[in-house]
Amino acid sequence: MKPISGSCLCGKVAFVVTGTPIRFIYCHCRSCQKSSGSVHAANLVFPEGSVTWTQGEDLVEQFVDVKENPGFPRSFCRSCGSPVPKLSRNRPFWNVPSGSLDSDPGMRPQANIYWVEHAPWYVSAEQIAKHDGKLAEQRDEGIKAKYVHTNLTGRDWRKLARFYCEVFGCVPKPPERDLSGAWLGDLTSLEKAHLTGVHLQLPGLGDGGPTLEIFSYDQMVAGSLPVVNEPGFGHLAFLVEDVDAGLAAVCAAGGTTVGRVATTEVKGVGVLRVVYARDPEGNIVELQHWS
Ligand SMILES: [Zn+2]
Ligand SMILES: [Zn+2]
Repeated sequence: MKPISGSCLCGKVAFVVTGTPIRFIYCHCRSCQKSSGSVHAANLVFPEGSVTWTQGEDLVEQFVDVKENPGFPRSFCRSCGSPVPKLSRNRPFWNVPSGSLDSDPGMRPQANIYWVEHAPWYVSAEQIAKHDGKLAEQRDEGIKAKYVHTNLTGRDWRKLARFYCEVFGCVPKPPERDLSGAWLGDLTSLEKAHLTGVHLQLPGLGDGGPTLEIFSYDQMVAGSLPVVNEPGFGHLAFLVEDVDAGLAAVCAAGGTTVGRVATTEVKGVGVLRVVYARDPEGNIVELQHWS
């Protein structure tokens, strides 16, 4: 086996392991639960002479268990507390905590030992959901929130809603809205505010996905034709099978173009065929396809 480097969490203790591992085991004993603070230890066993300290050997502290497994030694970094390799008590083996290694040792875990002591709440990782990062509700940033809709203010919400239903397969989510009253004045800072409109279920996201909310006010102010490089919300993007056919459908339903259909390769993602177009009121929509 190629030498593998390992280190503690703070990096002050470092070592190199050479030779072939003899075994790779999960130990579920109470002593390993306590010392690892986790559900089990995951140790590789190497022959004596396999581990060489390259840094911080003077920081390696030993603790000998007197309670759960009397006489069993534990080695850890005095600076950060991480378990580090230790020589076994009676036999000439190195116990190397697998998490301290800086790369894959090649061998895979072969056995659970001291299963009789395993934690009653143990379930295997395969049995529970996997997330690439934190759980959404654990994220440090921001308040707890869920994205629910995008609002599009239209001169004629019915016409605009029909366009998004016809071209993109949006589906109206009743009831139609007819809103007015003091609360709407408070909300909008408009006098005698009155609006009508509808929510559209967006395609490809099912019933519970965010909606497109299209509203018209009784009193509208004049707006200018949106352009791609003005500050603010830019466009709605739809993934489509065929960008060119999609653009034709947009134009047939009263829309127009912004630019031309373009193709580019986005490294690590794929080839993108994309176009910006306008709905009948000039709002920009993007049609994209990846291959
Ligand atoms: Zn350390
Ligand atoms: Zn153990």
